[in-house]
Amino acid sequence: MSYQVLARKWRPRQFSELVGQEHVVRALSHALDGGRIHHAFLFTGTRGVGKTTIARIFAKSLNCEKGPTSQPCGTCSICMEIDQGRFVDLLEIDAASNTGIDNVRDLIDNAQYTPARGRHKVYLIDEVHMLSKAAFNALLKTLEEPPAHVKFLLATTDPQKLPITVLSRCIKFNLKRLTPEQIVGQMRHILGAEAVSFDEESIEVLSRAADGSLRDGLSLLDQAIAHGGGRLFAAEVHSMLGTVERAKVKVLLEALAANDAARLLAEVEHIAEFAPDFAQVLDELAGLLHRIQLRQLLAEATHDEDAGLVGLAARIDPREVQLYYQIAVSARRDLPLAPSVRVGFEMALLRMLAFAPVAGAGAVPSSRPMTA
Ligand SMILES: [Zn+2]
Repeated sequence: MSYQVLARKWRPRQFSELVGQEHVVRALSHALDGGRIHHAFLFTGTRGVGKTTIARIFAKSLNCEKGPTSQPCGTCSICMEIDQGRFVDLLEIDAASNTGIDNVRDLIDNAQYTPARGRHKVYLIDEVHMLSKAAFNALLKTLEEPPAHVKFLLATTDPQKLPITVLSRCIKFNLKRLTPEQIVGQMRHILGAEAVSFDEESIEVLSRAADGSLRDGLSLLDQAIAHGGGRLFAAEVHSMLGTVERAKVKVLLEALAANDAARLLAEVEHIAEFAPDFAQVLDELAGLLHRIQLRQLLAEATHDEDAGLVGLAARIDPREVQLYYQIAVSARRDLPLAPSVRVGFEMALLRMLAFAPVAGAGAVPSSRPMTA
């Protein structure tokens, strides 16, 4: 059996299987179940957040033999044909790859003819802002006087480029980027079902690299599983992404806690050998400091079982944690201004040492002599 990529294999076929976008699902479900369905919808949002997936489920909801319903049966011949991408009355047009082609205009002009099999003829036009001028005019003409059997589901990553004449005729839904937690949750679910072993750090790192797009996240997950030979380990995920392992970042904090400049610089040297993205290392550092502070101030409420962090939380003064965090965040912002990213990174860590309050001297920044 050939390998099917995860994003395709796990593409939701029901609204209930979608990750996020609850506001959209709720509104569409109400419309479907209440029988008041507008003729044109516009889904906007960045790549890989579910625009065409939602549009396909919606097309199924409209045409299911047991519908219209917000819970299409998934087993009638129409539902199955839509899932397999071969339903005659669902016309999918990818405007990004079809601009200037005449038949798109013809296809839209054909909207006036009744559907062959279904209740509704559904046009799903992806990246609609890229339609050719002729196709756009045909679309506009049909939107102005839509035949009762036609539904338009338009999707775009760039709604600014759509003319107001189109925008004003659509019900608009703005899809949100997914949070890292939502992406982690779905990865955990999929890996469990696929019986792939993994550690938490690896999926956290992948979900952050996905940058709000579940599809990108799942494609990274495919790559990571291939890299790891069917398993998922943080070290391999980091080497694949060019990011730095949390354990190495923790060692930096250990050197800071010990007020040991020589060790700190040695660890920077060690990390630099991997030619990492120093901005990511600063992010990781800030993230760890956040967890340490939570541990310090809300010890009873946090379930952070990480032994290394528990130890650091006991050894670093809570005010220093705040200071380190501030320095990490501003250093990340200033990184492009540094003579080199490595220098910017190194100076940030040295600044943490230089400004850390001397024990007993209060919060006054002092230039403590370095013992190197
Ligand atoms: Zn059905």
